[in-house]
Amino acid sequence: MKETLNSTPEVSVIVPVFNEEESLPRLFERLFPALDGLERPYEVIFVNDGSRDATLPLLLRARERRPGAMRVIDFNGNFGQHMAIMAGFSLARGNVMVTLDADLQNPPEEIPRMVRCVDEGHDVVGTVRKNRQDSLFRVTASRLVNRLTNRLTGLSLHDYGCMLRAYRRDVIDIINESAETTTFIPALAQKFAINPVEIEVAHSEREQGQSKYSLFRLVRLNFDLMTGFSLAPLQAVTMAGIFISALSFLFAAFMFIRRLLVGPEAEGVFTLLAILFLLMGVTISCIGIEGEYVGRIYQEVRKRPRYVVRKIYDTNGDLSNKWETKNI
Ligand code: UDP
Ligand code: MG
Repeated sequence: MKETLNSTPEVSVIVPVFNEEESLPRLFERLFPALDGLERPYEVIFVNDGSRDATLPLLLRARERRPGAMRVIDFNGNFGQHMAIMAGFSLARGNVMVTLDADLQNPPEEIPRMVRCVDEGHDVVGTVRKNRQDSLFRVTASRLVNRLTNRLTGLSLHDYGCMLRAYRRDVIDIINESAETTTFIPALAQKFAINPVEIEVAHSEREQGQSKYSLFRLVRLNFDLMTGFSLAPLQAVTMAGIFISALSFLFAAFMFIRRLLVGPEAEGVFTLLAILFLLMGVTISCIGIEGEYVGRIYQEVRKRPRYVVRKIYDTNGDLSNKWETKNI
């Protein structure tokens, strides 16, 4: 086993962690035996995404036990799950990279099966959660979003949200070159994949801690996905505008003829108000959609670092002591 840990890793597992002190002990217990079963050198890169609990000390203590197989990137703040994975990708050395959540909703025991799929020639191994164990609201909303996203982006994935995925090095190299500030990794990988495959994996309830996504964060993440991979919402705004203008023109013509035939009328003020409110709602939503794109363009042009690394605890001792920024 010593040999397995010290040679250059063939498999890199990347785990973003944000306030996961309750889940980590169980994760270590299951993840490392599962990886030992691979019988090839591996490394696990934990990215501490600005946790305010005991996550970092727990990671560092676990690392003392396996210094060769575990690296820790400590962020200086919360930059989000996808940025944490991006940081992991930029450091990972394996030919196969696996992303995994820390909360054990997806079993680490599935990793060898996914690595085998890469061995068989697939460059991206996607996953579909079997019997997904989340609230009915999330499962239903996610089903709708998956379908809509496939429609809008032209991609075809059955489960955008499942983050237990494996990627071959060449796909990650392309992802590392995409320096987007807001992104959605499974969709990005799917875009560059030549021979992707999807397999079913088990899914269980979150046993420890709570989901780190509030409804607001989930909606924002899904806007990242939509705006990052499709211009269809913008085109829909234009189409809606044309459609409403055409209807209004017909309506105006109708009212004009009525005015000539029937004379002046003052009835229907409330109907008019209702129509106006409806159109105002449509207008504000359209401005919002445009704003989603404009805001992201603004984020990109400011060129602030995508994430800031406080320290990297690496295989060869603690490599960096000063703060680092990463803006690839
Ligand atoms: N996570 C993170 N940064 C965040 C939010 C989440 O690193 O800002 C990590 C979290 O610790 C977990 C993974 O991303 O390992 C998935 O989060 P969670 O399980 O809360 O999401 P859900 O399963 O509810 O979609
Ligand atoms: Mg989870």
